[in-house]
Amino acid sequence: MATIIDGKAVAKVVQQQIKEEVEGLERRWSMAPGLAVVLVGDDPASHIYVRNKEKACKEVGIKSFEHFLPATVSEKDLLALVHQLNKDKHVHGILVQLPLPPHIRPEKILNAVSPFKDVDGFHPVNQGNLVVGADGYRPCTPLGVMKLLESVDCDPKGKNAVIVGRSNIVGKPVALMLLEKHATVTICHSRTASLRDEVARGDIVVVAIGKAGIVRGDWIKPGAVVIDVGINRQANGKLCGDVEFETAKERASAITPVPGGVGPMTICMLLFNTLKAAKDSLQRER
Ligand code: NDP
Repeated sequence: MATIIDGKAVAKVVQQQIKEEVEGLERRWSMAPGLAVVLVGDDPASHIYVRNKEKACKEVGIKSFEHFLPATVSEKDLLALVHQLNKDKHVHGILVQLPLPPHIRPEKILNAVSPFKDVDGFHPVNQGNLVVGADGYRPCTPLGVMKLLESVDCDPKGKNAVIVGRSNIVGKPVALMLLEKHATVTICHSRTASLRDEVARGDIVVVAIGKAGIVRGDWIKPGAVVIDVGINRQANGKLCGDVEFETAKERASAITPVPGGVGPMTICMLLFNTLKAAKDSLQRER
C-alpha cells in the first residue's frame, strides 16, 4: 500500500518557508514582493483561481495587485497594461490568467511579459532557459511535481521517468526538469504505440492528460512513485485524476490523490517564483 502524498501538507511547509523569507526581505531591504494578476472577462473558474491566488499571497506577505478588465478590452490596451506592469517597481511577478477572449492572441500577451517577471514560466526565454539548464522561472505545476517527489525522498537520478502528456505547461517542462535531475525520461502522448508498456517501465510516472482513469492501476510498476496531475470532473460532480487511484495505490510506493495532490502545489509555486523574482530584482540592482 502506497504512501499517499499529501499536497496540502507539503504546500503548507513550503508556504511557511516562503513567508519567513518574505519577512526577511521586509526586515533587511524594506521590500515586499508584489504579484500583479491580470484577469480579462467574467469566466467564473478564472475568478475563483484569482481569488485563491490573492488569498495565498496575503498569507505569506506578498502584495497582490489585481487588474480586472472587461472581455471587450482590446489586445492593444491589454498589451499597454502589461508594458506598464513591466516597468512598475512594486510588481515583481506578472500573471495573465488564461484563457483570454478569442480576439486576443495569448502568445502575443505572454511574450510581452518581461522574462524577469514571468512567474508562470511561460515566456519563450524561460522555456529556453529550462531547455539549456540555465537559471530562470520554471512553470508552477511542474515545479510543484518536483517538490512532491522531493517530499517523499524520491531522487530521480538513474530512474526511469515516464511522463504521459506533452503540453508546454506540464508534460514537456516536467520531462526537462526530470532530465535535469538525471532521470532517463520517456514522454508519451496520444500517438504512443503502447502506453501500457511505457508506463510499466516507470520508476516515476507523471500523468498529465485530462482524461479520467486512463492510466490503469495494474500498469504501474510495483514500487513506482506516481504523480497524477490530471483534474477531471466525474458525473457525480466529484474530481478525479488520470490514474486509476484505488488499484494504483496497491502497487505504487507513493502516489498523489486528486484532489489534494498536485493542485495545492501550483499556487504555492507561484508564490515561490514571485519571491524568487523579488530576490532576483535585488541582485540586478546591486
Ligand atoms: P493538454 O490537453 O494540453 O495535454 C494533454 C496531453 O495528453 C497531450 O499531450 C495529449 O497528447 C495527451 N493525451 C491525450 N489523450 C491521451 C491518451 N489517450 N494517451 C496518452 N496521452 C494522451 O493538457 P494539460 O497538460 O494542460 O493538462 C493535463 C491535465 O492536467 C488536465 O486534466 C488539466 O486540468 C490538469 N492540470 C492540472 C494542474 C494542477 O494545478 N493540478 C495544472 C495544469 C493542468 P497529444 O499531444 O498527442 O495530443
